[in-house]
Amino acid sequence: MKLQKPKGTQDILPAESRRWQYVEQMARETFKKYNYGEIRTPMFEHYEVISRSVGDTTDIVTKEMYDFYDKGERHITLRPEGTAPVVRSFVENKLFAPEVQKPVKLYYIGSMFRYERPQAGRLREFHQIGVECFGSNHPETDVETIAMAYQLFTELGIKDVTLHLNSLGNTESRLAYRQALIDYLTPMRDSLSKDSQRRLSENPLRVLDSKEKEDKFAVKNAPSILDYLDEESQNHLDAVRGMLESLGIPYVMDTNMVRGLDYYNHTIFEFITKVDGSDLTICAGGRYDGLVEYFDGPVTPGFGFGLGLERLLLILEKQGVTLPVDQELDVYIAVLGEGANSKALELVQAIRRQGFSADRDYLGRKLKAQFKAADSFRAKAIITLGEDEVKAGQVRLKNNQTREEILASFADISSDFASLLSQIKA
Ligand code: ATP
Ligand code: MG
Repeated sequence: MKLQKPKGTQDILPAESRRWQYVEQMARETFKKYNYGEIRTPMFEHYEVISRSVGDTTDIVTKEMYDFYDKGERHITLRPEGTAPVVRSFVENKLFAPEVQKPVKLYYIGSMFRYERPQAGRLREFHQIGVECFGSNHPETDVETIAMAYQLFTELGIKDVTLHLNSLGNTESRLAYRQALIDYLTPMRDSLSKDSQRRLSENPLRVLDSKEKEDKFAVKNAPSILDYLDEESQNHLDAVRGMLESLGIPYVMDTNMVRGLDYYNHTIFEFITKVDGSDLTICAGGRYDGLVEYFDGPVTPGFGFGLGLERLLLILEKQGVTLPVDQELDVYIAVLGEGANSKALELVQAIRRQGFSADRDYLGRKLKAQFKAADSFRAKAIITLGEDEVKAGQVRLKNNQTREEILASFADISSDFASLLSQIKA
């Protein structure tokens, strides 16, 4: 029997989860500034929600799904990404209705599941922070959403992220390009990786995205999508580029970037950074104007991104960014003797009720061990409570740094602990 966590999963313990909370909180605050609201969808979906929208030939669907049949013979999958579920929910809850303000701006934070080979920054259960914006086909929306991710990275203190930009154009442009790419790749079919030989017939654009050496070599001189954009597609891209420049958001055009999902059109982008010399994508997204219709909703443009939380934290760590997450305790109550136990409980509760963090000894330890505990909890103040103090109705309250101390009555502790703390400047 295996009593260990499944391969590719993680336990997030308190010292680490504080960093997660900080990043999540920063994301929530940033998204709020852009008028986004949170959506929470189920962790599992009907298989079809993912398979057809993400694309029948993508790695996610062909190799990486955690799917199973439940006891009612329904084909279920743990969600591998956030966009398809959110679009499903958008349609199911009729958020397209005229009385719902447009654009509809939604974000999510949660687990995603992919059956992958685990390695640094690649897990089987991982977490994404993602956003989706429905109802605007304006290039301003593309730029605003990219700028929001950029602002989040800036506020977290991440350095050296490069924005890679490309356009897949509209359907006509993409079809024209698809044919050009087939014409270019077919003569060198045998030199492609097995996967890419398959992609060439099923989904040729994805050959550009391959990480295999032979494929990277083959696509070096491939035609560029930018030469196949029609006027509408070109205008959209030009507008996005112009606005990124006017906002001072640096980017590079990356015409070999096509993204792993099938549903994108026009603008696609990734934020890439280097970790130990190799490129790692932390955030990726783009425009998906056909997806709502695909879920039987009315034609509704969409734009969004997904951001890997583990990768973000990995990069923060590698770049030596310290997050302000050290936890302190406002007060620790050292308890001496059985007779002080119930008073200790009363006091610690009274202090917590007033909004302070407080803890106490439960183990009847020697004072020295208790003071050590107070230090390791980074207690700002210490109360020492023994049977004598219980009788006297007052205790010593001490600043754990400066050692400055005062006498405090139980009544004052229960009614105005804040002013006692300020007297010892803790
Ligand atoms: P990759 O090319 O690295 O496999 P992807 O194209 O499959 O990425 P997306 O589906 O665009 O990734 O997901 C968005 C983001 O989620 C990625 O940029 C990455 O930060 C994160 N991500 C994707 N898969 C994993 C995983 N298995 N473990 C951790 N993070 C992941
Ligand atoms: Mg992948």
